[in-house]
Amino acid sequence: MLTLVFHDGYLKRYPTGAVETPARARAVFSKLKEFYPVVTPEPASKADILRAHDPEQLVRVQLEGLDVLAAAFLAAGGALCAAQLALSGRCAFAAIRPPGHHAGRNRYGGFCFFNNMAVAVLSLLEKGLAKSAAVVDIDMHRADGTAEILGDDSRVHLVDMTLADGADLMDRLESRLEELGPVDVIGVSAGFDLHVQDWGNLLTNGDYHRIGRVLGETARRKARGRLFALLEGGYTAHALGKAALAFCRGLEGKEGWETVAERRA
Ligand SMILES: [Zn+2]
Repeated sequence: MLTLVFHDGYLKRYPTGAVETPARARAVFSKLKEFYPVVTPEPASKADILRAHDPEQLVRVQLEGLDVLAAAFLAAGGALCAAQLALSGRCAFAAIRPPGHHAGRNRYGGFCFFNNMAVAVLSLLEKGLAKSAAVVDIDMHRADGTAEILGDDSRVHLVDMTLADGADLMDRLESRLEELGPVDVIGVSAGFDLHVQDWGNLLTNGDYHRIGRVLGETARRKARGRLFALLEGGYTAHALGKAALAFCRGLEGKEGWETVAERRA
C-alpha cells in the first residue's frame, strides 16, 4: 500500500508564479486520499535545509516573506517524511508545493525555493539511513537544481529524463532504469507537465500509469521496494489528480485508475 504525504499548508496561497496554485495540490490530494492512507508531515528544520543549500539561500527565501518561508519549509518537510516512509519498503507520494527541482545550492526560480528532493536524499545519506540513492526526474523541465546539488555526489545516481521532446520516452526510461545498479532508495521527482492537457501536450494517464509501473518494478528489483515520489510540475489542476493517481497505481503494480473508476460506476 502506498502512503500519501499531505498537509493543509500545501493549500495556502503565497507569492509565487500565477500558475503555481493551491488547486494543484488540492487536485492531487482529493483524488489520492480516496485510495491511500494520509500521513501529515512536520516542516523541515534549518539543519535539514542546510544540507542542500548555502546559508545565503535561506536568508534570501526569508526575504521573500514569512508565507513563502513557511511553505518552503513545509514542502521540504513533506519530502523528508516521504523519504522516511520509503525506508519501510513501501512507496510514498508527497503532494507538496512549492516544487523544488529548479532550486540549486545558492539560487532558485521556476516556482521552486528549496530543493525538496536534495533535502530528502541528503538527509537519508548523511544520517546513515541509506548509503546510495537514485533520483529519477520525469518532469518536462530539466532538474537543473537537483543536478547542481547532487550531480557530483558519488552516492547518488541521477536519471533526468528531460522529456520535453517526448520521443521514445518509455524506451529511454526503461533502458536508463535497466542500467541502474542496486541502490538503497529511489526518489522520483514527479512532474506531470507533459500531460496531454498540460504544457507538454504529450502523455496520457495511461502513459503515467506505465511510467509508474516501470519505476515500481525497478524499486522492487533494485531498491527493496523503497521509493518515494515528490510532486514537481503540472499546472492543469483538473488533469493533475487523475495523472497522479494513474502514476501511483502504476507504482503499486496495480491496474490503472480508469479500470477502477469503471468498476465503481
Ligand atoms: Zn516542469
